[in-house]
Amino acid sequence: MTARILSGREYAAKIKEAAKREADLLGLRPGLAVVMVGDNPASAVYVRNKNKSCEELGFHSVMETLSANTSKERLLAVIDRLNADASIHGILVQLPLPAELSDAEQEVLNRISPDKDVDGFHPVNVGRLSTGQGSLAPCTPAGCIKMLEYADIPMDGKHAVIIGRSNIVGKPMAQLLLAKNATVTICHSHTKDLAKIVREADILVAAIGKPRFVTADMVKPGATVIDVGINRVEPKKLVGDVDFEAVSEVAGAITPVPGGVGLLTVAMLMQNVVTAAKMQLQGNCNIEKTDKGKMA
Ligand code: NDP
Repeated sequence: MTARILSGREYAAKIKEAAKREADLLGLRPGLAVVMVGDNPASAVYVRNKNKSCEELGFHSVMETLSANTSKERLLAVIDRLNADASIHGILVQLPLPAELSDAEQEVLNRISPDKDVDGFHPVNVGRLSTGQGSLAPCTPAGCIKMLEYADIPMDGKHAVIIGRSNIVGKPMAQLLLAKNATVTICHSHTKDLAKIVREADILVAAIGKPRFVTADMVKPGATVIDVGINRVEPKKLVGDVDFEAVSEVAGAITPVPGGVGLLTVAMLMQNVVTAAKMQLQGNCNIEKTDKGKMA
């Protein structure tokens, strides 16, 4: 069998088109602020891609670049200013933060207003996602779900196995698949008989960070394989967490790396900016709900 290739480019374009259509109906220009601390070259590439996508869709985009030795207080003050800026509907702080600020990461993420938290990392949005009230879900897993929908790959009643339990990919992916009525198993570095569990997956999500970890013998024939991993194996070569060549011969559908999930992530960020703008326009944001005591 040769798997159907799920092209990130194709599905990212669909996600962006839908985001643009929704933005046009809103009658305002969605605005995204990206805060980058330090000069991590990989982060700079990601940030440029986010700005490019905003430009492509005609969104307002602001880049706040702070030096690597910026204090926590200064960074929090920048977030406060962006929280109060009505032209900015979404804020994200590019991770990782420089080593000196890494202990403050959660405090920094928590400072972003939940209604502008387009990365979906704020505990309010994490809680909303896990209680089925999610509207700003983390971009990578949310983009994967959109792709499965566009690709007509059923999730209802399917066994989804996720390798990885990070807060940004594995756990929210599990919540989103549960919401689609999949039966979800999460594996991690302490999982026993990992290959046996993975072989049971109708939908397999690999978010490990280990090059070509998933081999062909671990995949059920016909399974859908979503490779979230991005691993640099040579100065200029990126590979996923899945052995793409071999697994393509077994899987029913598979995402490539590069050209797969990474593109969906940026596209979904655009959708989240529109969703955030819409919530703010409708006065339906999480903060207001909290203030009015409407949330449990
Ligand atoms: P983390 O390092 O936070 O999590 C990795 C997970 O993999 C952990 O839960 C870990 O288990 C698990 N793991 C590690 N080794 C094994 C093993 N031998 N067997 C089973 N499980 C294992 O990574 P992220 O979730 O942040 O990212 C995962 C990958 O996805 C990375 O390559 C990253 O670059 C990529 N990524 C790609 C994005 C995109 O847009 N395409 C966006 C975000 C990430 P444990 O918890 O027990 O340690």
